[in-house]
Amino acid sequence: MSRAAIPVLVIHGGAGVIAKDLSPEKEKAIRADLKQALEAGYAVLKSGGSSLDAVSKAIVLMEDSPYFNAGKGAVFNHDGKNELDASIMDGASLRAGSVANVHKVKNPILRARAVMEKSPHVMLVGDGAEAFAQSIDMPLVDPKYFYTEERWQQLQQALKEEAEKEKSTASPHGTVGAVALDAAGHLAAGTSTGGMTNKRYGRVGDSPIIGAGTYANAKCAVSATGWGEFYIRTVAAHDICARVEYKSEPVAQAANDVVMSAVPKLGGDGGVIALDADGNFATPFNTEGMFRGWIDKEGKMHIAVFVEK
Ligand code: ASP
Repeated sequence: MSRAAIPVLVIHGGAGVIAKDLSPEKEKAIRADLKQALEAGYAVLKSGGSSLDAVSKAIVLMEDSPYFNAGKGAVFNHDGKNELDASIMDGASLRAGSVANVHKVKNPILRARAVMEKSPHVMLVGDGAEAFAQSIDMPLVDPKYFYTEERWQQLQQALKEEAEKEKSTASPHGTVGAVALDAAGHLAAGTSTGGMTNKRYGRVGDSPIIGAGTYANAKCAVSATGWGEFYIRTVAAHDICARVEYKSEPVAQAANDVVMSAVPKLGGDGGVIALDADGNFATPFNTEGMFRGWIDKEGKMHIAVFVEK
């Protein structure tokens, strides 16, 4: 049974950030976009809106930014195309929706939500997901919309390195996500990504997989970023919530154990944002940095990129 709560919103813009690639100007622009997403999502919560609406709002704004690997800023696959994945989950009802491998969907998080609310299914992929979007009058965009010079150059670099080393250099590059607690005490989580640069063969990561990249129940909400294969194999988001639910672990301990121990033990890296029904949250990562921000129970906003003491 949920009870009234003080709203909290936590977001991430991906765990792939490396200090040497981040100019002061770019960091400033990214921080401004994180701030905008936090403010818009939090305004939903403050006016009594649902955690689902807040998560959707914050993620749409990050999808519309060219700086994150989701929506507009999605990375390119091996064939020079953008394949987008997203998922969303409502903690109070355990309803969930997801889309994977879509090419023409401007805001995949909204399509994931439509799958949850307007279809009897949880996950739709590729052309089918796009046909579903059209069937409910959701417009599609020209795939050219997702072209950004920076992501294109990242693919060229990855292809060059691959040719030199004769092995895949697919690497994690971002993802966006949000978790929210609303005034009714309900939690929600959502995640959206372009996947990994130079991915091929229809590769799908953790982000659209309920339990791996996204999970929410009555006690806990998680969105992950990082090397998706390892988040799938550890069922990371669900594992964190299961620890909170069955073992009564504090959310910070549960998130820390999974991100700093279970995932790296297999050779993976990344991070999560995790929030509980009392508004406690954690943002652990084992990469160099993770774009992240929150507005806590006191209404205080904080945005961070690298480890803070
Ligand atoms: N988790 C995403 C994937 O594997 C990528 C990322 O978060 O960097 O598709």
